Amino acid sequence: MNPNRYDLIVLGAGSGGIAGAIRAANHGARVAILEASALGGTCVNAGCVPKKAMWLAAELTESRNLAGDLGFDPCPGGLDWPAFVAHREQYIRNIHASYSARFGELGIDLITERGRLLGASAVHTASRPLQGGRILIATGGRSKRPTLPGSNLGIDSDGFFALRAAPRRIAVIGGGYIATELGGILRALGSEVSLFVRGERLLVHSDSEISEALAEAMRSRGIQLHFGHQLERVTTENDGYRINCATGLEETGFDCLLWATGRAPNVEDLGLQEAGVSLDPQGFIAVDEWQATSADSVFAVGDVTSAAAHTPIAIASSRRLMDRLFGGQPESRLDFNNIPTAVFTHPPIGSVGLTETEAREQYGNAVKVYRSRFRPMRGALANHAERSLMKLVCAGAEERVVGIHLIGPASDEILQGFAVAMKLGARKVDFDDTVAIHPTSAEELVLMS
Ligand code: FAD
Repeated sequence: MNPNRYDLIVLGAGSGGIAGAIRAANHGARVAILEASALGGTCVNAGCVPKKAMWLAAELTESRNLAGDLGFDPCPGGLDWPAFVAHREQYIRNIHASYSARFGELGIDLITERGRLLGASAVHTASRPLQGGRILIATGGRSKRPTLPGSNLGIDSDGFFALRAAPRRIAVIGGGYIATELGGILRALGSEVSLFVRGERLLVHSDSEISEALAEAMRSRGIQLHFGHQLERVTTENDGYRINCATGLEETGFDCLLWATGRAPNVEDLGLQEAGVSLDPQGFIAVDEWQATSADSVFAVGDVTSAAAHTPIAIASSRRLMDRLFGGQPESRLDFNNIPTAVFTHPPIGSVGLTETEAREQYGNAVKVYRSRFRPMRGALANHAERSLMKLVCAGAEERVVGIHLIGPASDEILQGFAVAMKLGARKVDFDDTVAIHPTSAEELVLMS
């Protein structure tokens, strides 16, 4: 056996690469996976996992404040960041260890080097040339910043995870999920936070009422939201960063500046052109619905493609691809419709399917929207004014549920099961037929009229 010959060579051991390597090996393929950085890629090391840990720290802070409002002894003192980060990093090290163990059990060769395609069936690494029956590109993406004076200053989401204390006053540039999540976490942990948003709303792809409710919730927590302000330049002054916008808005005195202005795919230095792998107009690797690139035997998944940047999407598309290539399941591919997602803001958001606007574009007048706005018990006990919002977007005479949009405590957890119902084609009447669990927030979804 040629030790350099594999059935599958995977470039990148992030969410998509690891899932694909493991699934292919489970089907009996001989697999090599290349990764020069930490196992787990963005999600494990600089994305979902450390972000969710910091969100939990922020939630604990909010719960502690609420407990004070409800008669518990006040509990002074802020978060010991280094102590919390030690827990976070240990959790991440455990994930690294479990991947290494899994690779060992399945006989997957981990090569701790970068890879570069040499044609459509060979990969160059610093130590040895590899031959592959199939190649999977799962090289992910990285933060990108706009081209304007001062955009080299400050930090991005990677820098957020390097923080060891809450900044006193931070400017967050962007209005997407990373900006709203990290801004919300820092506010809860004690920073003064200002968001500078180019457009007129947060989370442009979300349902507009949810985005309005989020803006309200952020403002009520003391976050400054500046909409419609295209950034012109950033400079440093004695008192910190100075932000200048094209609208004339100027703000100074930030000791931290965080760019959350989008992500770019890692397509450089991969030998794509030589291998015949094309990019789409936005610079992502172009793939068809089978994750196939323009080069025979070369496939791509995850953030290096234009698929929505979520770990479960990278994982699911990669697993289905391997079921097709090595598992004898010729029709296996990911259905990108109705994929549920959460945004870990305060409070969190859960969404699946069409927004109300999208549904009206698609179904015209045959759309009926049910909504519930209520004070969840947790906050209401302390007489807090904040309301949760739940929306069911239904279409057609039979009122099939085509969208579910939630903002409020536990929305991230509530949505998963309802997304199964939607995937199965549930109608409003099926929701009505389901007996409520009381007293919960989730019951509102089956009690709407
Ligand atoms: P990645 O996980 O980025 O992995 C790519 C890997 O390829 C990297 O390890 C890289 O080192 C390696 N690589 C690059 N070039 C080469 C090469 N030439 N040879 C070998 N290896 C190479 N998603 C969610 O679903 N939920 C969340 O809550 C969430 N939160 C996020 C928070 C933040 C701050 C960020 C930045 C992202 C978040 N995401 C979240 C998105 C999620 O992290 C990504 O969608 C997911 O990691 C994509 O997986 P991937 O396999 O495509 O790429």
